[in-house]
Amino acid sequence: ADDLVRAVHRIMHYVDAARRLYVRANADSAEDAARARRMGAQGIGLCRTEHMFLGDRRQLVERLILADTDKEQQEALASLLPLQRDDFIEILESMDGLPVTVRLLDPPLHEFLPDITELSVRVAVAEARGEKHENDLRLLQAVHRLHEQNPMLGLRGVRLGLVVPGLFTMQVRAIAQAAAERTRQGGRPRPEIMIPLVGTVQELEIIRDESLRVLREVGEEYGVELDFPVGTMIELPRAALTAGQIAENAAFFSFGTNDLTQTVWGFSRDDVEASFFSAYLEKGVFGISPFESLDIDGVGRLIRIAVEEGRAARPGIKLGICGEHGGDPASVHFFHQVGLDYVSCSPFRVPVARLEAGRAAARR
Ligand code: PEP
Ligand code: MG
Repeated sequence: ADDLVRAVHRIMHYVDAARRLYVRANADSAEDAARARRMGAQGIGLCRTEHMFLGDRRQLVERLILADTDKEQQEALASLLPLQRDDFIEILESMDGLPVTVRLLDPPLHEFLPDITELSVRVAVAEARGEKHENDLRLLQAVHRLHEQNPMLGLRGVRLGLVVPGLFTMQVRAIAQAAAERTRQGGRPRPEIMIPLVGTVQELEIIRDESLRVLREVGEEYGVELDFPVGTMIELPRAALTAGQIAENAAFFSFGTNDLTQTVWGFSRDDVEASFFSAYLEKGVFGISPFESLDIDGVGRLIRIAVEEGRAARPGIKLGICGEHGGDPASVHFFHQVGLDYVSCSPFRVPVARLEAGRAAARR
């Protein structure tokens, strides 16, 4: 068994030397980050910050989104900031010296709102009994206002960041403070700030400028240089088609092929587990699911356009991919061929991505 392990290590050594693509992992916790590093990840390509607010902390985001007054909003933000900072300190520590792409909050909103049916029932029962229910009623009205038929195509990502004042600023401040703390501890933090679901260059500009302002401000407070890249995801067809303009304002692009597949095909990601979708796939018109295997003619074409226009507008822009396809062997070959700098995938798929990136490089 030891011989086998040694042989595998030797093969991976050659593979790593041959490949041009860097391989990062998608990780949202220090444990995942450590696991990814053991698997050979060269950084984190996607830290989904919404995963940090599930469980007990869900309430805090709910309070922020539903806040009625500035005071309530400020209080919610103040309680979130130290939690985020500590999360980022841990992640930056386990990936010390390697890039960590932190994506600003991109939740499907309904996951952070109270259940509308439950709330309606509670209000109806209280009404029938003649009990006090002002708070629930107020909550219900707010939830109704924010209710969406298609949350995955709704108030997510940068849209939420623009609509909820202070949300992204708080997250960038937490990243900046974490990096400043790590620097003081003698570490080498390399966070990258990533803005999700961008469709227009204006959205990006507003959040990018604010992020750079906060980095400078916190840098001055701590007396350290916090000169980190701010970039965007390319996960809407419009973003891919206007990649030239977007690149002028972004240090990097990371292709979100999950959302790109959803929006290019018009299939809701929420419904791909549904039986109609397997019935459709069985017709064999695509072969296997475009959510698993990159649709090179459609989604791939948009990626090509965005790579060309992005590089023309900003030579040297860093380009990666962090959708599920980042760990799919055939897709990795495509990403190599189209000239991306890195792929990012789940920690368990990192070895396969390394291998395929090596094979892709050896092929040409
Ligand atoms: C994507 O859309 O491909 C992506 C990586 O982001 P998420 O899956 O979190 O929407
Ligand atoms: Mg996405």
